[in-house]
Amino acid sequence: MAGRSSVALVTGAGSGIGRATACMLAANGTKVGVLGRTRLELEEVAAEISAQGGEALVLEADVSEEIPMRKAVDALVSAFGGLDIIVANAGINGVWAPIDDLQPFEWDETIAVNLRGTFLTLHTTVPHLKQNGGAIVVVSSINGTRTFTTPGATAYTATKAAQVAMVQQLALELARHQIRVNAVCPGEIDTSISENTSLRREEETAIPVEWPVGQVPITGGEPGRSEDVAEVIRFLVSDEARHITGSPIWVDGGQGLLR
Ligand code: NAD
Repeated sequence: MAGRSSVALVTGAGSGIGRATACMLAANGTKVGVLGRTRLELEEVAAEISAQGGEALVLEADVSEEIPMRKAVDALVSAFGGLDIIVANAGINGVWAPIDDLQPFEWDETIAVNLRGTFLTLHTTVPHLKQNGGAIVVVSSINGTRTFTTPGATAYTATKAAQVAMVQQLALELARHQIRVNAVCPGEIDTSISENTSLRREEETAIPVEWPVGQVPITGGEPGRSEDVAEVIRFLVSDEARHITGSPIWVDGGQGLLR
């Protein structure tokens, strides 16, 4: 590790899991680049981090766009002198619809944010991690890894499965650079992501399964909290996880095992 405070980039840091992760890493003394599309939200997160005595840099960029991502990563490295930890978290549910109804531009949007966005996040940051080693966590999902019953979520599920494939491929490619690459796969977490979901013709795609006591066994059906995921990410990027790479960790209260 470098002889300076560690530096992290968290994408989608303006809300939910990204916000909780950025705050938690900052509370541990890590300097954090908080990246997202909505400046106002990011400024709130940066203010919260400063109020806790931490340091954050607001980076407004769309993860699916190459030039803004390059500029954001350059700005972070210039401000804090390097980069050690990457949390590729930004993502959308997108449109959930029957495959013959899902429009090609809707498919492209989900792939652009979730998959191209993950690629660009790693593509632009890995050269910096190669300097001193580091840790990457990609926020995948139970969808595409354990769960295939979410109505119409084919595009989303495809991106989340692909993220875990990337993690495993890159764990081997980057081990020689002392870079660990892992995934967290959350179940239902109480964030604003469902507000940004468009679900069409659910009656054609729903799988008729109902769990009378709810679908998150460990909480009696209640969704998890962003902090439940952030704490696992904090562990995965810490030295305590030094022998873990290429591993998906499900943070779902057992939800993904119901089938
Ligand atoms: P959220 O909507 O609160 O957070 C997502 C963040 O990503 C938002 O701040 C949003 O502005 C940002 N974002 C979206 N598109 C972006 C883009 N193109 N460029 C930059 N930033 C962008 O939702 P969340 O639940 O915290 O989601 C975080 C991650 O967790 C996602 O990858 C999601 O797929 C995954 N996840 C969430 C759940 C859940 O139940 N909430 C379950 C499994 C996986």
